[in-house]
Amino acid sequence: MTHLSVAEIERVMASMPEAISNTFGQGQPANYIPALAGIDSGKFGMAISTVDGRDFVCGDATEMFSIQSISKVFNLSMAISHMGEELFDRVGVEPSGTAFNSLSQLEYENGIPRNPFINAGALVVTDALLGHVTSPKQEFLSFVRGLANNIDVHYDEEVFRSEYDNGQRNTALANYLKSFGNLNNHVSRVLDFYFYQCSLSMSCQDLARAFRFLAQDGKHPYKDKQVVSKRKARRINSLMMTCGTYDEAGEFAFNVGLPCKSGVGGGIVAIIPGEMSICVWSPELGTKGNSLPGTEALKYFVEQTGHSVF
Ligand code: GLU
Repeated sequence: MTHLSVAEIERVMASMPEAISNTFGQGQPANYIPALAGIDSGKFGMAISTVDGRDFVCGDATEMFSIQSISKVFNLSMAISHMGEELFDRVGVEPSGTAFNSLSQLEYENGIPRNPFINAGALVVTDALLGHVTSPKQEFLSFVRGLANNIDVHYDEEVFRSEYDNGQRNTALANYLKSFGNLNNHVSRVLDFYFYQCSLSMSCQDLARAFRFLAQDGKHPYKDKQVVSKRKARRINSLMMTCGTYDEAGEFAFNVGLPCKSGVGGGIVAIIPGEMSICVWSPELGTKGNSLPGTEALKYFVEQTGHSVF
């Protein structure tokens, strides 16, 4: 049960566009993936999905966008639903304190990425997941569609191609991991599956619904089963809190106080355990790679509602 009344949530959602209006024009959409650069930077959407099954939307909440690194939570969830703690022998659980695509940290830490939400860590998780699925792309898509309860969730070929054509850094990371013996599969197979995950298109509403399992102890939002155990759901939330927003996770904990995961497509998902999942989307990013209007929207929401895990 959420403690917030419908009227309270609706009031905050209705005042949101005005509350964040002065954050536009200060950042830029991601431009290192050309397919993302042309997006209309004035877009803003927000969706909430409560543990008692209610949905709230505002602005462009039903418009699909590129989920990018938000996919790293689906990747990790799917991987740890298949395996146990041994995954964390290959990838750490500490904030990185460096850029999400840093090569130098991997060198001095002997090929063990700091956490599953930096690119190197997600590549290792992707590699581990490949050992547990027979049709990786189909199974991943159907996992996410099931969580979002929407078969329109799809993969965007143009974004995928764009990532591939501009993926020199990710290719370097994967080769580096391979040289340390921390990838079992061929580098091209891991990259292909990793880029596929980043190239999914979903709306704020899809993402808020799909992440609801993390607000309800790992229980599937639409099926009578666990997505992950309660213990694993807690661990995913902890990692989102400490590592989910690039090198700005400390500021997010300080200002928002919720487990969050962002992507360079401009989406940010936040969890209020026991209550709801939230997704905000707006393409203009700040210097650390997080959506500026999206960050402001989450700050405003917690200020108005008093919600925080602290
Ligand atoms: N596909 C992007 C990359 O690998 C993900 C970036 C992000 O959203 O953090 O660079």
